[in-house]
Amino acid sequence: MMNEGRLINVSNRLPVSLRKHAGSYRLERSSGGLATALDSVWSQQPGVWIGWAGNSSEAADLLLARASRRRPYSLQPVELSEEEVAKFYSGFANEIIWPLFHDMPSRCNFDPEYWDTYQRVNRKYAQAVEKISQPQDFIWVHDYHLMLSARYMREAGMKSRNGFFLHIPFPAPDVFEKLPWREAILRGLLDFEVVGFQTERDRNNFISCVQHLLPKVLIEPATPHMRACVQDRQIIIGVFPISIDFDEFASQAVRNDVAARCVEIRERLSGDLLVLGVDRMDYTKGIPERLKSFRILLRRFPELRGKITLVQVVVPSREEIPDYKDLRLDVELLVSQINGEFTQPGWVPIHYMHRNLSRHDLLAYYRAADIALITPLKDGMNLVAKEFCAAQVDERGVLIVSEFAGAASELRHAAILVNPNDFNEVAQALHTAAVMPPEEKRSRISRRAPDRHRQWRRLAFAADFLRVPSCPWW
Ligand code: UDP
Repeated sequence: MMNEGRLINVSNRLPVSLRKHAGSYRLERSSGGLATALDSVWSQQPGVWIGWAGNSSEAADLLLARASRRRPYSLQPVELSEEEVAKFYSGFANEIIWPLFHDMPSRCNFDPEYWDTYQRVNRKYAQAVEKISQPQDFIWVHDYHLMLSARYMREAGMKSRNGFFLHIPFPAPDVFEKLPWREAILRGLLDFEVVGFQTERDRNNFISCVQHLLPKVLIEPATPHMRACVQDRQIIIGVFPISIDFDEFASQAVRNDVAARCVEIRERLSGDLLVLGVDRMDYTKGIPERLKSFRILLRRFPELRGKITLVQVVVPSREEIPDYKDLRLDVELLVSQINGEFTQPGWVPIHYMHRNLSRHDLLAYYRAADIALITPLKDGMNLVAKEFCAAQVDERGVLIVSEFAGAASELRHAAILVNPNDFNEVAQALHTAAVMPPEEKRSRISRRAPDRHRQWRRLAFAADFLRVPSCPWW
């Protein structure tokens, strides 16, 4: 049974961001999987969502208050200075933890100033929680930006129950141990009462790191979730794959306006076969590698030229970080090289869009696509893969997905799995999908159904997380 406390969600960003446009503020949906996953599961609980809104001013606060009235929960902004955004968000979170946790330590910039700001900003979020929470509330903290927040909540004497969910992968010990602040991060995570991961691989990596770096912490292999014992405390360590609202996506995908847009897209694009890629502009998403694989496909199978078109949607992301600027240049150079090599009258092999699509357009592209090509080098889950499956109302699309995406383990029976570093293998998988008989396509994609019932129930991820034994929420 539910107790009387509220759910307090805490994440770096709110699910909406404020942007200044022509002198006035506008509210936009924050991009990325975290906002999609949580916004869809949290439709009834009363509560508060604490996070950065991208901007702060009186006008901005007014807009947030108005947006709160349209939701079951209120939006509570945390203010960050420019320096904090640079050193906490761009710096520690996205120049250290993001590349390290995605197995790319050579991209890390281990600047000690970033660590100081990370601690300070984690304390700031903890103070924001302390200000509005009551002891019976449940505090649910999200993602790698806030791994130390439980430590500061504890230091402030807060008594509310809490849990943490990591939306990105957790690396193996040989990668994690490169972090100069490795013990502090592990201890910070163990200050929560529940620590959740996307996949067993991530949970096992975390346990191995704890055993390796904090040998005094006892690990108990209980079911369904493991436990860590730190002095007199027990911490639950579980696997809770995030998801989408499958039924909502499926019912939006069959709408007449989406179907009409889907027909329009197919008519306007030359070529018989539409391959779709949808990603944030991020080096973990494997976009240049995918373009190189597509080039190999066109070189090895000339009969597909003029017949297969790649639509690559890239959502702008973290543009202030140098690696992301360089990536955009690499991607755009490759697109123009490949188009330069193969374009013929009436056919351009790659259609490249560098912008955020509306949900309506995105669904129309999911439906219009014959093949979804989702090949991150490493990914916590990848919701685009699940959204594509949910939108397959005609059961005619083929999903090719990287074995290094969290979604691969749930979708392995429906998809063709590939190693994104093996360009020949990806090209071959594209060819296999291109010539696959309709019956086989239907039979494959229909195998997403068992997962749909097991994992994709509305609220499944949140319910599983919040229902763990130590949590009084249910
Ligand atoms: N998305 C979007 N606009 C777009 C393309 C994608 O809002 O133009 C959404 C998409 O629907 C999905 C999210 O962005 O829910 C991407 O989540 P994913 O888990 O695939 O990757 P992340 O960006 O979180 O790393």
